Amino acid sequence: MNDRIPLPLVTPDPAPREGTHLSILYRGPLASCDYDCAYCPFAKRRDDPERLRADRAALERFTAWVAGRDHPVSVLFTPWGEALVRSWYRGAMVELSRLPHVRRVAVQTNLSCRTGWLARADLTRLALWVTYHPSQVAYDRFLAKCRELTEQGVRHSVGIVGHPDHLEPARRLRADLPAGTYLWVNAEEGRVYTDDEAAEWTAIDPLFGHSRFAHASAGLPCRTGESVVSVSGDGTVRRCHFIPEVIGNLYDGSFESALRPRPCPAAMCDCHIGYVHLEPLGLYDVFAGGVLERIPAGWSAPA
Ligand code: SF4
Ligand code: SF4
Repeated sequence: MNDRIPLPLVTPDPAPREGTHLSILYRGPLASCDYDCAYCPFAKRRDDPERLRADRAALERFTAWVAGRDHPVSVLFTPWGEALVRSWYRGAMVELSRLPHVRRVAVQTNLSCRTGWLARADLTRLALWVTYHPSQVAYDRFLAKCRELTEQGVRHSVGIVGHPDHLEPARRLRADLPAGTYLWVNAEEGRVYTDDEAAEWTAIDPLFGHSRFAHASAGLPCRTGESVVSVSGDGTVRRCHFIPEVIGNLYDGSFESALRPRPCPAAMCDCHIGYVHLEPLGLYDVFAGGVLERIPAGWSAPA
């Protein structure tokens, strides 16, 4: 449907080894969600007021740190749970999007929040990684929210977990979203797909093959730990969310001298926010201009 709506402006992707650009995957103490997905440990979890205060303080500290940098930065918020129902994440998205040295600020979200706040952001820099959870939100309501994003010119991808019950909703969504909106499909954790099943998902997301199998990564060059880092609320810096080794702290500057090319120490990498940075996969070319928010370059939906 409506594929004549102009696409949001695209700013160039961070060139990973050019200058001092740094991509940061930030995850604060927040660990609660307004949804109740059966496949998620954060379903309907509540954070107590103390944890919410700590999360807000940590985010404000992080935002101030980014604001004070003198080199290009991109940020992807990857919360445990849902961030955009909290005013401080919406505020941080707006604030960061308006900083000239921030190339991209993006967040993973279920899009349960209202969308009016996005009007305050610089939409040439902001993007949303939206996930559709069919058991949690009426189809029409979700689709209407996606249309609001398109009409507002908000860069976004939309995705779904590749569970058999989601196949029909995913097909319907692919048909109803504008051709310019990428609909990704994540392989469900632990699920083995037959070739026929994989073909059905690939018809919806031609890039499903990247998610279907975990990627053997041991010893391979990965940009994390050099031009990409994972940061937790207290400023602890790791190369990625999946490798526990600490390489420094954001706030005492100790991480900076630790940034360097590093091979992956894990056997496998099975999450998009990790393997997109695994160099041999070439996904910086596939997602050029949209690495953090998961939007392929020159995207147009399959007919
Ligand atoms: S919306 Fe995301 S964080 Fe919330 S319960 Fe579902 S999967 Fe978990
Ligand atoms: S390949 Fe995955 S697990 Fe290995 S370092 Fe990169 S992001 Fe981390």
